Amino acid sequence: MTIPSTPQIAPAQEPDENTCPAASLKDPQAATWFWGRSDRGLVRGNNEDRFWLDGERHLFIVADGMGGHAAGEEASRIAIEALNQFFAADAIEAARSGGHFPELLRAALGHANDAVLQTSQTRSEWSGMGSTAVVALLQDGHLHLANAGDSRAYLLRGDKIHLLSRDHSVAAALAEQNHIAREEVRTHPLRNRLTVCLGIEVNIEPHLSRIALQPEDRLLLCSDGLWDMLSDEEIARLWRQYPDAKVAVDALIAAANAAGGKDNITVVALNIGDHDGFSTLTNRTFGCPVSASLDDTVVVAC
Ligand code: CA
Repeated sequence: MTIPSTPQIAPAQEPDENTCPAASLKDPQAATWFWGRSDRGLVRGNNEDRFWLDGERHLFIVADGMGGHAAGEEASRIAIEALNQFFAADAIEAARSGGHFPELLRAALGHANDAVLQTSQTRSEWSGMGSTAVVALLQDGHLHLANAGDSRAYLLRGDKIHLLSRDHSVAAALAEQNHIAREEVRTHPLRNRLTVCLGIEVNIEPHLSRIALQPEDRLLLCSDGLWDMLSDEEIARLWRQYPDAKVAVDALIAAANAAGGKDNITVVALNIGDHDGFSTLTNRTFGCPVSASLDDTVVVAC
């Protein structure tokens, strides 16, 4: 895969035919407090997932592309590139000083949506391509999260695992309307029919949330290749079993492949409390007017 490079980011490992590189960093804590890996799985001939890890800006992204031939790969690549460019350091600083992180995240996903859509209109083989995105920005003691599509963010706090993101799919909408049980989303035939993603509609409305971080918090971003293969309970069990972020990522990908590996699998794990700068991360005064708490999330496994 090709990961767009910036001066502060370099590949941590060379890609092989099945594994995308973790875009790791100069940050010496990178190997301990976060890790990410993408795996082609056992069925797909290519990998349409992309991810981005940035320990300097505390920016973490997973994107899952879709479309025929190479279009899916192109869509997720464009999405990651557009998001990465949008979250320039000065833009983050402006959001911090103005307390405008929700607006920043919404604008970033809108920018990525425009980028994918415009490219899809330039060549017929890219027509109809799209990408999910789940974006986690850790700033001022808070996790600022946005997602479009069905790539997910989970939080492990204490003995509970919370689903922070919102699936934009027909199956998830049926569950929200109580037509099916939430547990049925994972196996419902319309679970992959997306209602929101990047690159299809001119305007999108991403799901936004904000959570005050606690030192023991662990965060997981993933594509549906993980949660489609493993139940929330199985994800929680493995995640708790392996405190090391890299080991947890490898174990979860191995388990998804053992369960069939029917899709590309991307997992990014962050151990917030293992970050040496956590006290700095959490001690800033924060004035964002939008509030959210774990009361707004779904506890998916205890
Ligand atoms: Ca997928």
